Amino acid sequence: MTPIPFSDLSRQHDALSEQLKDAWERVLEKSWFILGEEVRQFEASFAFYLGVGHCISCGNGTDALELALEAADVGAGAEVVVPANTWVSVAEAVLRRGAVPVFADSLAGEYTIAPESVIRCLSPKTKALIVVHQYGSPARMDELISIAKTHRLMLIEDCAHAHGAEYAGKKVGSLGDFGCFSFYPTKNLGCLGDGGAVVTNSNDKAEQIRLIANHGQLGRNIHGTAGRNSRLDELQAAFLNAKLSYLGQWNQRRREIAAMYMSGLDRPAAILPEQTAYAPSVFHQFVVQVANRDAVANHLRKHGIGTAVHYPSLIPDMAPYAPYRKDPAGLAISEKEKVRLLSLPVFPELANKEVEYVVKIFNEAVS
Ligand SMILES: *Cc1c(COP(=O)(O)O)cnc(C)c1O
Repeated sequence: MTPIPFSDLSRQHDALSEQLKDAWERVLEKSWFILGEEVRQFEASFAFYLGVGHCISCGNGTDALELALEAADVGAGAEVVVPANTWVSVAEAVLRRGAVPVFADSLAGEYTIAPESVIRCLSPKTKALIVVHQYGSPARMDELISIAKTHRLMLIEDCAHAHGAEYAGKKVGSLGDFGCFSFYPTKNLGCLGDGGAVVTNSNDKAEQIRLIANHGQLGRNIHGTAGRNSRLDELQAAFLNAKLSYLGQWNQRRREIAAMYMSGLDRPAAILPEQTAYAPSVFHQFVVQVANRDAVANHLRKHGIGTAVHYPSLIPDMAPYAPYRKDPAGLAISEKEKVRLLSLPVFPELANKEVEYVVKIFNEAVS
């Protein structure tokens, strides 16, 4: 068996190479690189796809979070509840706003933020809640929306793992006050570089974010607010325009691969991801829990199979984030799971034979 990488973007880009080259030529020919037709088209198509009023593209997914926080009026003195076991951006963006992150625990085997832990993290200063649809699996939105309503919190969905995932028939990103997306190359929908977007149904907030992200410019050389520069460029938008129509089939293929893992991987040696019928995952990652994680990863590596760990440290375990408050009851679930998590290859271009081989070698490793 030839090696099976954890991720291989060249397979996707070889298949789409004509369309990507067309996109590049379209932009080169026009030589219009910032805020043009490609960006407008992508924003309109992505908003329509998600069923939201507005999509404002920006430089990357972390900027999307920062812009949403600013539009949510989160600044100095405010607290924002965020998950402890996710990518660092959620806490980074909060600190960049001069606000304070408070770390919540996750649900066992689901990996999304635990509503009960969110409640324990609240204080009179809590202004917003960031939830992550972790690994592509929607968070418990009914409970989280209800907490946000009761405590008057702005609800920000971090959808960086979950482009196209649905919760009770609605696309994630359309359920909270803001949905934040990253188009980092390895995400379910990715640029050939950096990119991001904020989506919202609020006309006012959309206008505010658009203004901030483009230097606060109301018109040429007229600056209505102290803004910043965070824009998706025409070239990346053109690549996204070429890729968006494939997102549904790519997510479907991720689900097929996940189904093969679900039926093939040895239980109970591996704890497999929990799934619900009303909020199925789009499997940005396929994450299992195993007792002897590093030995299993080594065994797979020896057989040419790439794996990864999402994430080896909780955010509050890292120095810049250690000083901040956590759930007063502790982060027991996240702590217990972080040493057991292992991500297996799940990109859409994997062949069935490759998935079968991963299953076989994995089962050897855990037996
Ligand atoms: C990738 C990611 C982001 C943002 O990533 P950028 O690299 O800034 O585009 C935010 N949150 C999560 C959970 C992510 O995985």
